[in-house]
Amino acid sequence: MGFEAFIWRGGPGPVLLVNGATHGDEYEGPTLLQQWVQKWKPRRLRGTVVFIPVLNEVAFFAGQRCRPDDGANLARSFPGSRRGTPTSRLAALFNEQVLAQATHYADFHSAGAANRLDPWVGYVVGIDSKMERVQHQMASCFDRFWCWSGPFLPGRTLSAAAERRIPAIYTECRGEGDVAAEDLAALDLGLRRMLITLGLIPGAKPRLRKQLTRITRNTKETHLQVHHQAPFDGLYIPRTKLGAWVKRGAPIGDVLGLAGKSVLLRAEHAGRVVVIRVQRSVRQGDALAVLSPV
Ligand SMILES: [Zn+2]
Repeated sequence: MGFEAFIWRGGPGPVLLVNGATHGDEYEGPTLLQQWVQKWKPRRLRGTVVFIPVLNEVAFFAGQRCRPDDGANLARSFPGSRRGTPTSRLAALFNEQVLAQATHYADFHSAGAANRLDPWVGYVVGIDSKMERVQHQMASCFDRFWCWSGPFLPGRTLSAAAERRIPAIYTECRGEGDVAAEDLAALDLGLRRMLITLGLIPGAKPRLRKQLTRITRNTKETHLQVHHQAPFDGLYIPRTKLGAWVKRGAPIGDVLGLAGKSVLLRAEHAGRVVVIRVQRSVRQGDALAVLSPV
């Protein structure tokens, strides 16, 4: 039980906490944070920076989204319990011992091994307007990504941060079990700009691009796992592509059950395909595509 944390202390100031691998098969966050751990020697740090490149070590070494022993999703286990499953205990440890000391927080996710997505940054809306303004500032540092923010969803690292009124953002990189150089560069630039914006390191105020932004009050919209679910186990054959704009009812893909039945999944609503399943074997309930209204 536990994780490696790297801490840089520079006197009084903000305390920024960043982690990767809340899910074990997401490698962009761990790669970027390990690069910083190897090289970063800040000379004029004001405040504290804490990096945890791999939060969910057991899942990471299993190469899976969730750790195999209890199968629980760490990003649905917050605030966690010291007497719960291993995943719940990990959530409690992180929440109570680390997150509680942060003034700002970022969680670097990705599509994971089974999916590909159009990278975005997001935060929780509708809790506290002051917190939301800071989150907006933090998110805009990641200006190579579009911004997709929605209401509080229970169990997430960001929900634990919201309960503590700690401004927090998350990023979602491309995934597919790989690390795209473009995503890594965008994440790197965003992190550096966030350090400047929060006053942790000196630097000129960054000139930011305008982000394509979607802020929704609909809890279902940003809950990625509830869309276009496979109705049974089988082989998935996509009929659309990442980035495509689809109309309501347009074909998303077929699921072929191994015993011969098949179903054509159609778009639940019009939108841009922002997440698509790449792993062709699917289990009942797996989300095969997510559409954004922008
Ligand atoms: Zn994730």
